[in-house]
Amino acid sequence: MTLRLFNTLSGQLDDLVPADGKALRMYACGPTVYDYGHIGNFRTFLQVDVLRRFLKLTGIAVRHVMNITDVDDKIIRNATAAGLPIGEYTARFEKAFFEDLESLQVERPEIIARATEHIPRMVELVQKLAAAGAAYQTEDGSWYFRLAAFPEYGKLSKKDLGGMEDGARVDLDEYEKDSARDFALWKAAKPGETSWDTAIGRGRPGWHIECSAMAMEFLGESFDLHAGGEDLMFPHHENEIAQSESVTHKPFARHWMHVRFLLVDGRKMSKSEGNFYTLRDLLLKGYKASAIRLALISVPYRHQLNFTFDSLADATNAIDRLRTFHQRLTTGSFADGANPALQAAAEKAQADYLAAFSNDLNTAEARAPIFDLIRTANTAMDQGQLLAADRDAILAVLASFDAVFCVIEDRDAEPTRRALEWAEQAGRMAEVAPELLTRQGLTDEAIDALVAERTLAKKQRNFARADQIRNELAEKGIVIEDSKDGVRWKRK
Ligand code: AMP
Ligand code: ZN
Repeated sequence: MTLRLFNTLSGQLDDLVPADGKALRMYACGPTVYDYGHIGNFRTFLQVDVLRRFLKLTGIAVRHVMNITDVDDKIIRNATAAGLPIGEYTARFEKAFFEDLESLQVERPEIIARATEHIPRMVELVQKLAAAGAAYQTEDGSWYFRLAAFPEYGKLSKKDLGGMEDGARVDLDEYEKDSARDFALWKAAKPGETSWDTAIGRGRPGWHIECSAMAMEFLGESFDLHAGGEDLMFPHHENEIAQSESVTHKPFARHWMHVRFLLVDGRKMSKSEGNFYTLRDLLLKGYKASAIRLALISVPYRHQLNFTFDSLADATNAIDRLRTFHQRLTTGSFADGANPALQAAAEKAQADYLAAFSNDLNTAEARAPIFDLIRTANTAMDQGQLLAADRDAILAVLASFDAVFCVIEDRDAEPTRRALEWAEQAGRMAEVAPELLTRQGLTDEAIDALVAERTLAKKQRNFARADQIRNELAEKGIVIEDSKDGVRWKRK
């Protein structure tokens, strides 16, 4: 099954296959570690995770590189304000970033590359660009890329770059002007700023050069896929192409994937609008990491995701259904045999699921057949028509669903525990939802013990005690369900 993925460069759906027939070589721009990651950042990292998990599900190995931008304008500004060396300043946010990825079940890329650890490769690339006539040095000692040396500039974003003025320069790491400018490859050291003493002078790299240098270092001059959020298409990715191809004269990345931006309540997320959320903000409000993951991936990557608290509530309900159903299958007892209608339903769900993913990673369409199957199977179970072989077939479909969605197994306790620990250290306990504090007061073991006590009380016909336990648990958000297969409990 081949994945057809939209390619920004070709402007159409193209097959995504490893050129070397072995592993898909991909580079995805990582975070600038100057603050905690927000849900927009994680939307992009999660969609890349969906991509790599789906490739692996279809038997394709991946060699995935992610950079960590640990030196740039914002980092230098914030570290200076905090009175810290940049390394100390960024270490805290890098650690938080990886914890957040873990909370969201985002797989760790095979290679993590910190910009500050690859300065010599960047210097080498600037030297090669200078030798090719594509880079020049200004009086202050900075180096710029000469856009006029790369006539194909603009081929990715397909922007009309008519306003391009030869020699107009920009030295900001980020800019969004429609007109293209010569951009900084290397910035001469300024007093008090972190800098490196190198063959091209004392200074620090621009943001764009790091991705070109590190992508080629780990993946070669040409590789399969480059990904990032849509804001990076211009100028960052356009600049990466210009820097790389001016030296290699080979296509840098063959396939480009861009994830559309997330909005909150229909508006751009921003601190001043009061609609800005980090992952930690949501965990402290009592939302489960799995629900956040599901809400952020359920809208296909090429569609705008409008994040709302209703969408989080929907995701929470969907996860409840998945987990309750999975538990019913794994704990119930089923007679031997197979029901042909259910076998066919499981097969169809699996085929539809894979087909939706193969069609440009359509996560919304991939979800639907799984929930249809749950409905059909629940009805069959109620009527005693679901047999052991059907259970196995359906569990196999759920396993394949979870290889990508990764929400059925309940791993939510740890992210919440970690967020609370962080809130305590960071003096943010006032932001913690009261229900969450109550809920956290009860460990799984404590609940198991109470449920067992209630079962015993019922056996001894002490219904008053049994009811008391049920009510106490309900107050703490724990629901007990009695069924013919035994007693189950879950956190609301
Ligand atoms: P940064 O740390 O700002 O370099 O961003 C890390 C990643 O998050 C990049 O791939 C960005 O394109 C992406 N990103 C930033 N804001 C959003 C957003 N609102 N929606 C989706 N992706 C975003
Ligand atoms: Zn990049």
